[in-house]
Amino acid sequence: MRVGVFALQGDVREHLLILSKLGVDTLEVRNATALNEIDSLILPGGESTTMSKLIDIFDLRKPLQEFIVSGKPVFGTCAGMIMLASNVVDSAAGQQSLNAMDISVQRNAFGSQLDSFEATVSFAGQDAKVAFIRAPKVLEAGDGVEVLSKLEDGSIVAVRQKNLLATAFHPELTGDSSVHSYFLGMAQS
Ligand code: GLN
Repeated sequence: MRVGVFALQGDVREHLLILSKLGVDTLEVRNATALNEIDSLILPGGESTTMSKLIDIFDLRKPLQEFIVSGKPVFGTCAGMIMLASNVVDSAAGQQSLNAMDISVQRNAFGSQLDSFEATVSFAGQDAKVAFIRAPKVLEAGDGVEVLSKLEDGSIVAVRQKNLLATAFHPELTGDSSVHSYFLGMAQS
């Protein structure tokens, strides 16, 4: 099994590192050909506005949407979650998501860079140590969306809809591999 990490922008290296620690074969995805060579894909954290522009510059919008529709697992972290959402609140001018999951997310919902924090969250019933960096929040989730993690104040921060997983937080920056293991489990089932 080979996991691709979308590599035009964002914290690609950290995801590759954790995947290789888990013993999985990886590929940096920068073009449509690479999408044919992977079994699942991670859209990393970074900056969703820039990601949206680069996706169009590199003609990757349609190939990415086709990959998603094919049913192969896709995991969006932070900016990657924003890219998967069907509705983005506080989006930048011209920013376009991939419109794949039935969720409405608010960008920068936890405040500015200064409001970044680490937290232990309950994710799919297990504790996971994760980082929130200018993180989005899920404001609404459709009927087909399973909520996998909520903060104490009720904020929804991880969701799954069929083959799609999205977290508002970064699971790749704290050395905790449990969320990636969950994603690899999706790829194997
Ligand atoms: N706030 C960023 C955005 O809108 C996401 C931040 C992140 O991925 N760490 O894309």
